[in-house]
Amino acid sequence: MNLIKVGFMGGTFDPIHYGHLLAAETAREACGLDEVWFIPSFHPPLKDNEPGADGSQRLEMVYRAIDFQPHFRAMDVELERGGTSFSIDSIRSLQAAYPDREFSFIIGSDRVNDLPQWHLIEELAQLVRFIGVERPGEPIDTSLLPSFIANRLTVIEMPLIEISSTDIRRRVSEGRSIRFLVPEKVYSFIKRNRLYES
Ligand code: ATP
Ligand code: MG
Repeated sequence: MNLIKVGFMGGTFDPIHYGHLLAAETAREACGLDEVWFIPSFHPPLKDNEPGADGSQRLEMVYRAIDFQPHFRAMDVELERGGTSFSIDSIRSLQAAYPDREFSFIIGSDRVNDLPQWHLIEELAQLVRFIGVERPGEPIDTSLLPSFIANRLTVIEMPLIEISSTDIRRRVSEGRSIRFLVPEKVYSFIKRNRLYES
């Protein structure tokens, strides 16, 4: 049986922006993925700041961003599960629920570099492969990673996109423009719900 290749694109998506979308599309093309699933976390383990938008708003923004993209899906598994969103828990439940699929994790270089600190990383690295994309100011040096991770990591080329959700939230709170950093339908949702305003 040929397994359907799925890229697992996890994140807080507070809000989703063009860096996320380009990373997903670049990984899809470079690695021949059939689908990319965007999975907003409920509470990410390695982040201490509280998200600015609630889970349902973050999920709604993901839906709006990927609308009409045939290869992209949004999944609420981590929001539904609640608690700390450990990737290992998500992958175990997805692999049980979708035995016809093979999952890879798409991650930006900040996450690649903190992979050694991920919860149960040795087990996770046996269950999935990692697809890494570079972010500005965060080069990936695979020689610094333990070999059990480096052996499971493919680093792909993508145009560097200097966009982060932190910067978007800051811009809104300072009354600055975020147009063209996020898709138009995400922009209108943020404005209508007055998200991230101080
Ligand atoms: P925050 O500033 O709140 O941490 P973020 O922009 O880093 O937000 P996340 O939701 O934390 O977005 O990231 C989800 C995933 O997308 C992570 O793997 C992250 O590395 C990756 N990512 C985020 N922005 C980019 C970007 N501009 N280019 C490539 N990958 C990105
Ligand atoms: Mg981040």
